[in-house]
Amino acid sequence: MWKIFVFLAVTLINVLICGAFLGSINSPESYAHPAWYLDQVVLGMVFAGVGAVGFVFLSMVIRCPVCRKNVGWHVLSTEDASKWFKTLISLDRCPFC
Ligand SMILES: [Zn+2]
Repeated sequence: MWKIFVFLAVTLINVLICGAFLGSINSPESYAHPAWYLDQVVLGMVFAGVGAVGFVFLSMVIRCPVCRKNVGWHVLSTEDASKWFKTLISLDRCPFC
């Protein structure tokens, strides 16, 4: 279960970065200073990168100890976007076994 918490931590960091990203976009100074624009690009890339790493991490590390199949990826790819996390949290046995 610790992997879920790692994912939550990554997601939280992602939300914080996203907030900083949106905050910098909404800043009126952002259009006046080229340095700010660069910061937004970097923040956007970090945001996308952390998000992608979080999902890849989650889908790759959650495996069934019995059949070794990739349960995390299975849930992510078969459940609706709004339900997969709830399904993953409430999963008490392997969907393959
Ligand atoms: Zn299994």
